[in-house]
Amino acid sequence: MALISNDRDEGATPPGGWPVPRSAYIHVPFCRHRCGYCNFSVVANRDEWIDRYLRAIEVELTALNRPRVATVFLGGGTPTHLPADSLVKLLRLVTSALDVSADAEISVEANPEDINATTLAVLQDHGVNRISLGVQSFDDSKLKILERGHTGDQARRIIDQAATVVPNLSIDLIFSAPEETLAIWNRDLEIACSLPIRHLSTYALTFEKGTQFWNRRHRGELFGNDDSLEVAMYQAARDSARKVGLQQYEVSSFAADGFRCRHNMSYWHGDGWFAAGPGAARFVNGLREVNHRSPATYLKRMENSLTPTAESESITVEQFARERAAFGVRLLDGIEISEFESATGMDLLGFFADAIELSIKEELIERQGSVIRLTERGILFADTVAARLLTADA
Ligand code: SF4
Repeated sequence: MALISNDRDEGATPPGGWPVPRSAYIHVPFCRHRCGYCNFSVVANRDEWIDRYLRAIEVELTALNRPRVATVFLGGGTPTHLPADSLVKLLRLVTSALDVSADAEISVEANPEDINATTLAVLQDHGVNRISLGVQSFDDSKLKILERGHTGDQARRIIDQAATVVPNLSIDLIFSAPEETLAIWNRDLEIACSLPIRHLSTYALTFEKGTQFWNRRHRGELFGNDDSLEVAMYQAARDSARKVGLQQYEVSSFAADGFRCRHNMSYWHGDGWFAAGPGAARFVNGLREVNHRSPATYLKRMENSLTPTAESESITVEQFARERAAFGVRLLDGIEISEFESATGMDLLGFFADAIELSIKEELIERQGSVIRLTERGILFADTVAARLLTADA
């Protein structure tokens, strides 16, 4: 393949050009309460900013000149925290500012405490065909520690109700919360797997700098769990999901046949995507940009006709290849070598030779025909493999 090279090529573009974005992310920063572990761009008790936010999003999206998109993801924050009329406005402006294809996946993140018949009707009437519900647990004590506002029973009822309206229903569960035992987690999994969900995402709780949980851990008020318990919990999730036909397709994601999250796949495949809202990150035409994280700063800048962008980086083809490899390896289907090479112009096995050889030697990845993928053991060390690919010596 003539275009494959190991050379650094600052300023160049990949052989087929930069990927044309077919996805859009809209960040909705409003929440009822800021959970102690949350490090997202979020505001609580600032609902009086909602109209200003809607005007800012309209300006940001209109400036895109109505690109064609195949996936839209409204995340947050909590999009469903918006009152019904504001949610209608947001969905209308998103679907008119973007040229959303007829078979697009339109996802909305939701909290169990905000879902009711009215919210579901609004989502359905405006083309939302996927709901990602932040359940986190069905155990009331664990929910309390996580500072969630719903109960386990409420979450179960909402899942049943939502699935009758939007069958493509995903839930998020957190494991390894403070004081959590394997028994509590197994019970969470048992309940989740008995419910009509098509997708499950599970994440170990992390103590992020700047969160209340981080401060509380440093004051000795909260404790993390040891690695062996986390691994046991993760393996329990994999076993439970497999038993009910939720196939693991990414390190933290499980889906029924045909229900992989198309929007997230576009991130992991390194395709481009548009993004709007505070803290939103986009990748368009080789430019990686992040908006101002503070919702107050974002709104002020938009109202003063200033750019919402806080950081902008023109990435090199080499960086593009590194990121594509590092994110792609998280997918259990692995990285298809020739596909990687035609997208990036980089020789996967040559450019990443040391990282790949070391990871193969440690039985973290394997080559199967034309694919490099994580091994069973490597699934537990995906971050290590990804970091090696990101920082591999050229
Ligand atoms: S509901 Fe979600 S986004 Fe909002 S504060 Fe809690 S964890 Fe963060």
